[in-house]
Amino acid sequence: MDCNIIKDLIPLYIDECCSDESSEEVKKHIENCAECKKIFESMTNNITQEEATFEAKKCTKINDWKASIMQSVLFLLSFLLITLGVYVEAGVGSYDWGNGLTAFNVVVPATGFMLSLTNWYFVKLYPSRKSFSWCSCLFSVLITLSATVWCSFHYEWNLLDIFIKASFIDSVKGISFIFGIGIFLTVSFAVISKILSDLYARMLGKE
Ligand SMILES: [Zn+2]
Repeated sequence: MDCNIIKDLIPLYIDECCSDESSEEVKKHIENCAECKKIFESMTNNITQEEATFEAKKCTKINDWKASIMQSVLFLLSFLLITLGVYVEAGVGSYDWGNGLTAFNVVVPATGFMLSLTNWYFVKLYPSRKSFSWCSCLFSVLITLSATVWCSFHYEWNLLDIFIKASFIDSVKGISFIFGIGIFLTVSFAVISKILSDLYARMLGKE
């Protein structure tokens, strides 16, 4: 059969859309004609490449979607924890815990964690997954510490006073007792922030 006819038939042959007779002819011709074989191979290669790119794009889209869901859920959960903390704190007058204790122990660490999630919007700017996840972790701690300082002014708790009035060890003991939950939550959120940031960046295909 003529090469030009075969060239016309190759796309149909690949799509399995031609008759058995034509398929047989094309198959036989390709085996014996180097030029047509080349055309056939380049066409099949293109198709597999297109399929691979399509699959990769589909996969990236699903992962992007999963990563966004994870971020939204974390925002929501930390917001709920903050709301719960504020709610408990509003009723604290009836407990003997002292003003602002729930804020220090729950609201501030949860706020630090929630605000550290904003770092996720800048994931593309980081050179690596490692630097990104460590920065998220650090942000969580730094925001919590800044908010603690701000809060201690707001509630007029002069924390330095405790150290001046009591011995260092007693001060540390006292502060650990009062802020134990807050310290525990701050450390936990920092660890969670590190792990989830790494997962988030991995989902987006960051090395
Ligand atoms: Zn040919």
